[in-house]
Amino acid sequence: MSGVPQRLPEEGHKTFYLETFGCQMNVHDSEKVIGTLVQQGYRQVETVEQAGLILYNTCSIRDKAEQKVFHRLADYKKLQAQGKKFGVLGCVAQQEGEKIFERAPHVSLVCGSASYQNLGQMLVQLENAQVDGASRAVVGEIPPPAGENAGVRDDAAGGVARHSGLRTQDLIRITGLDDRQTDKCFETEFTARTNPHRGYITIIEGCDKFCAYCVVPFTRGKERSRTSDSVLAEARKMADLGYTEIQLLGQNVNSYKDSAGKLASRKSFAELLAAVGEVPGIRRVRFTTSHPRDFGPDIVAAIDAVPALCDHVHLPVQSGSNRVLDAMQRLYSREQYLERIAWIKASKRNIVITTDVIVGFPGETESEFEQTLSLLDEVGFDGVFTFKYSPRPNTPAIGMDDAIPDQEKAHRLEVLMARQREIQKAQNRNYLGATIEVMVEGYNQARGQWIGRTSQNKTLNFSAPVGPGLKAGAYAPVLVTGLFPNSLLGELVV
Ligand code: SAM
Ligand code: SF4
Repeated sequence: MSGVPQRLPEEGHKTFYLETFGCQMNVHDSEKVIGTLVQQGYRQVETVEQAGLILYNTCSIRDKAEQKVFHRLADYKKLQAQGKKFGVLGCVAQQEGEKIFERAPHVSLVCGSASYQNLGQMLVQLENAQVDGASRAVVGEIPPPAGENAGVRDDAAGGVARHSGLRTQDLIRITGLDDRQTDKCFETEFTARTNPHRGYITIIEGCDKFCAYCVVPFTRGKERSRTSDSVLAEARKMADLGYTEIQLLGQNVNSYKDSAGKLASRKSFAELLAAVGEVPGIRRVRFTTSHPRDFGPDIVAAIDAVPALCDHVHLPVQSGSNRVLDAMQRLYSREQYLERIAWIKASKRNIVITTDVIVGFPGETESEFEQTLSLLDEVGFDGVFTFKYSPRPNTPAIGMDDAIPDQEKAHRLEVLMARQREIQKAQNRNYLGATIEVMVEGYNQARGQWIGRTSQNKTLNFSAPVGPGLKAGAYAPVLVTGLFPNSLLGELVV
């Protein structure tokens, strides 16, 4: 952990356990949540058993991810008898809201990501409620802006408690669910980054795109960007702390809108990207995720111009069929997507392209699925994140006819992954004999190999002569001598 003063463990100290589900945004949100907790005198522990407060930062992008958290809550319910408190954070919290209290009455805190800016106050509420003892039910909602009207509200505990079957006086209910229209980002100087060499910076939160299948606009709220000044200040601070790699994060980084200073001096996403790449000490900058609709040639020009920007663009396509793209409300066509791919391929640099694909969207025919396969061949992606369509609450797609049976979705997924494995092997063959710089991530004792990552975001496992010199965070040249679909093999160049 860096950047956060860890307080010393002491007897009776407030402790928490946090498990994170889902995407990089969630991982980074958790780093900020941990920073907030540590700042308020909590100590992070490794197991549920050691913790006073048990938190789950949740994902609801697919049903499976959502169910995981309810299983966890059920598994550990018995620990409530020991006085442990439970909290649900993130997308499931926002999506299910107070229904979580019905389904898991031992939960005391439910907080969506748009309310994290108020998390500190909610923790105080939780502590005060505990100090008060279980003599009353408390139901608290922290309305924005922070500080206003933030007190604990005595309440009859309403329907929530009555439905739960527990005595209302045993219940503590604290919610942060009403901030989805906020203009604020969760900015904190207390971020508990776990990796000392490469770290995330969120530049934009929420999403206004409303793709027909996706819960994100409902769970993460409206789109809002940090100022470029604030992002650059964080990047400089990270460089001062010794970070050399930064990954800019957002659901749609390229719909970034700067609000710093005068109109003329505001930065586009490409300009911000270039400016982060020019921060002294920063050797690698990545960004995810880009939406094809907002992806312009200026991003490729920035990569061409600034050496620190990595040779990698993640550009989710979702489907190769225009009819399906239209039904998904992606608002671009296959041809427009391929135009963006052409811009990327015209770069002076060897930019690797990865994507996301959903199979089995309602009504997807066999021939529409074939169009996705042909797109994979045409682009030659270096990596594809594949998803079986999962119907999600609130989304327009949930009411669509012609659901594809799960077995068929699974079959399409297998076909797609098999095709993509062959494409990746062919792509990786291009690196044989090349010497590539990696950032060392660690050492695999069992295999006797170092683990490295290339600018293209490929894993390059390599051997090196015994002796000092290599360590995590170092950069080293590696000769590529072998390949697999998902990684490269090599030898350190000495
Ligand atoms: N904002 C990014 C974009 O526009 O591509 C994606 C963010 S989303 C968290 C990551 C991926 O999850 C999506 O690209 C999509 O492939 C997948 N996904 C989202 N909703 C899904 C659903 N209901 N079923 C299956 N996959 C889904
Ligand atoms: Fe979801 Fe679409 Fe927004 Fe991406 S752009 S987060 S897929 S709604």
